[in-house]
Amino acid sequence: MSPYSMLSALSQQSDNKKILVRVGRIWEAVNRKNNTLLHTNVILLDEKDDHILAIVRNNQRDAFLPMLKENEVYSISNLKLVPGPKLYRSVDRDLSVNFFYKTKIEEHQDTGSIPRYKFELQPFHRVKDLVGDTKCLIDVIGMVMSYGQLEKRSNDAQKMDVVLMDTSEEKMLVTLWEDKALQFMSSIREVQEKATFVAITGLLAKKFSDRATLSSTDATRSYFNIDYEPLNALNEKLSASIAGGHNSLQAPTARQFVTANENQPKELQIKSILEAKIPVGNNVLHCLCKGTIIDVLNGNGWYYICCPKCARAVRELEGKFYCAACTEEPYPVTQRYRVVIRIEDGTGSTTLTLFNKEAEQIIGAPLNTLLKEIEKEKLAEIPPALKNLIGKKCAFQIKITPYNIEKGCEEYTVTRVSELSLPPITNDAADSSEGSNKKQRTT
Ligand SMILES: [Zn+2]
Repeated sequence: MSPYSMLSALSQQSDNKKILVRVGRIWEAVNRKNNTLLHTNVILLDEKDDHILAIVRNNQRDAFLPMLKENEVYSISNLKLVPGPKLYRSVDRDLSVNFFYKTKIEEHQDTGSIPRYKFELQPFHRVKDLVGDTKCLIDVIGMVMSYGQLEKRSNDAQKMDVVLMDTSEEKMLVTLWEDKALQFMSSIREVQEKATFVAITGLLAKKFSDRATLSSTDATRSYFNIDYEPLNALNEKLSASIAGGHNSLQAPTARQFVTANENQPKELQIKSILEAKIPVGNNVLHCLCKGTIIDVLNGNGWYYICCPKCARAVRELEGKFYCAACTEEPYPVTQRYRVVIRIEDGTGSTTLTLFNKEAEQIIGAPLNTLLKEIEKEKLAEIPPALKNLIGKKCAFQIKITPYNIEKGCEEYTVTRVSELSLPPITNDAADSSEGSNKKQRTT
């Protein structure tokens, strides 16, 4: 009889059991509030295609972590089975493994009987039902359709968007943050000439503009073109249905901005934007435009007072504020950015309006922070934080409306923005940023 217990047979009375496992991924759980290391997570897999989470506490790191390497096989004896995390589970199981002073870990020959991967897969159509559900993290597989550029958000965090397709040809937007974005970016550059399949772990379902999307966590890792049965099946299914059996699936496309519905706006130069016509049957034309900010205009102020319910500008009458849309007296009113900028691209120049979200993203601070720092009598002037925008090269997704054309009024509304002057990512950059993160967490 095998001296080893299967993971499914472990219970809280299993102290003296022995298991034969492959180490899956190892990652650190970090407290985002103060950037300290909480503990280290290790996923263990057995030959019955089962898995369990092992938690290595900080005081045990030196004793156990140097021994454990991802993908290697170990025989482990004397372990404690304890209640696992109640929330943000990367393995959907009530018990997890703790090592203790008697725990013995020995390297073992890899006979190939233990699978290399085990994921908690969810199909894309389930994601909308999992928005706000924090019990389990979500793993998904998909073919990479497109991926965006690295974008800087208002809190200086970097993110990138990826669109995946599953077996039912449904598409899903996945947002990867910080080192997770860098890991994806550096890996996809090596494989991007051909169709690319990926498994992404440890995601949370979020709602973004009425669509369910997925967002990365500490537990996120992207695995490209791995030999994993469901991923091979997806490849076959899509090859048969999309490529018509010719196995010529599209390689992923790099895009400035990605969306799950893939209505990619055309890139236009400013000269063409000024002469643009809205296609018959549409009431708005979206396009992409790259240019350098040459001025921040102050005709109408750089923020406005608005209704807290609908964000429309309010009317002031005898010291009271009225919202024409909500027809009531809004109290208290709030403020939002409305920043008008002049951009040029070599073919011409034009004027764009950045509303709250896009303005905050490119300025790098929420309006409230700026308002707190500025003296009352200086509020009418353009503050330095906005003047700093001058000289920045950005990609803007803008919306051209009949109003713009009929009134000859440029001030096109920006719907997405991303700075182009960010340093390009190389494999080195991804590596060194991982290194510096570790440094931050361990010191
Ligand atoms: Zn209102």
